[in-house]
Amino acid sequence: KAKDAGKGQIIVFDQPLNDTFTERMNIEKQLYNALENDELEVFYQPQIDLTQNRVTGLEALMRWNNPKLGKVPPDKFIKIAEDSHLIIPLGAWVLRTACAFLKSLHEQGLSHLTMSVNISMLQLLQSDFNELVLDTLQASGLDPEYLELEITESVLVESYEYVSSKLTELRAHNIKIALDDFGTGYSSLSYLTHMPISTLKIDKSFIDSIRTGTHQAVLVEQIIMIGKRMNMCVIAEGVERTVQLDYLQEQGCDKIQGYLFSKPQAAQSVKELLTEWEKVSSLNE
Ligand code: C2E
Ligand code: MG
Ligand code: MG
Ligand code: MG
Repeated sequence: KAKDAGKGQIIVFDQPLNDTFTERMNIEKQLYNALENDELEVFYQPQIDLTQNRVTGLEALMRWNNPKLGKVPPDKFIKIAEDSHLIIPLGAWVLRTACAFLKSLHEQGLSHLTMSVNISMLQLLQSDFNELVLDTLQASGLDPEYLELEITESVLVESYEYVSSKLTELRAHNIKIALDDFGTGYSSLSYLTHMPISTLKIDKSFIDSIRTGTHQAVLVEQIIMIGKRMNMCVIAEGVERTVQLDYLQEQGCDKIQGYLFSKPQAAQSVKELLTEWEKVSSLNE
């Protein structure tokens, strides 16, 4: 990679520089006005509790539809939003929108549902982050125990002490903390003992290839075991096939999230889906 090359070395870019650079610049430029131009939307993906056989939560996922660029996936714009610090207003908006939506679901009788919101490191490092979260909860009228913040392990690498004390304060308010994409990136098992983690999210890459007897399966089994022993909730992400579901259920995984049950959807359609599912499950009782 170019950035790893030392002084005096010939730099060979692995992609045509101009294309990616122009694309990034373009995305950043359009992203600046995305909020005020009403181009952003929050989608929600159901999380299913395997013992209750019921949707118990939703994950909020940002969607962006720009007139010039079309639909830009989060994997393309979140990094740029972080680098340009735009993630701070965008992240605050997602949190506000998701909390307001959850409140409206609670008022419709779906009062057991929780909401998980992805949080970037840069947001956590803002000195007023905790205040923002608590104010947002208060404004929405939600009880803090229904909110879960999803962070990735990379968040924990930097400013470990600072982040840990901020999260501990939020946890003391009953807000839940999930470790996202668990098992990838900068994993260190010591985070589990030093951070106030309530939920482990097993990364999709482990789920993709689980079959009894494989190394992936061994890891998944052990992650579930660790979660259980440490009183954490374990959720598997990216569940697409029934064989995966059967396996996870057999292993005692608490919850799943994935296309098998539902893709992330717009607020209105997820609301209809949930209302429909609740009707069906109350008939079965
Ligand atoms: P994530 O938090 O790990 O979210 C899970 C991703 O997996 C989502 O992609 C979701 O749509 C996708 N997914 C869920 N089930 C399946 C499945 O069965 N099959 C497949 N192929 N994919 C599945 P999405 O929505 O494209 O988001 C990608 C990433 O962008 C997220 O990964 C998260 O890291 C980031 N992101 C999205 N929204 C936000 C946000 O509001 N704030 C921040 N900071 N990051 C966000
Ligand atoms: Mg997530
Ligand atoms: Mg994830
Ligand atoms: Mg991910």
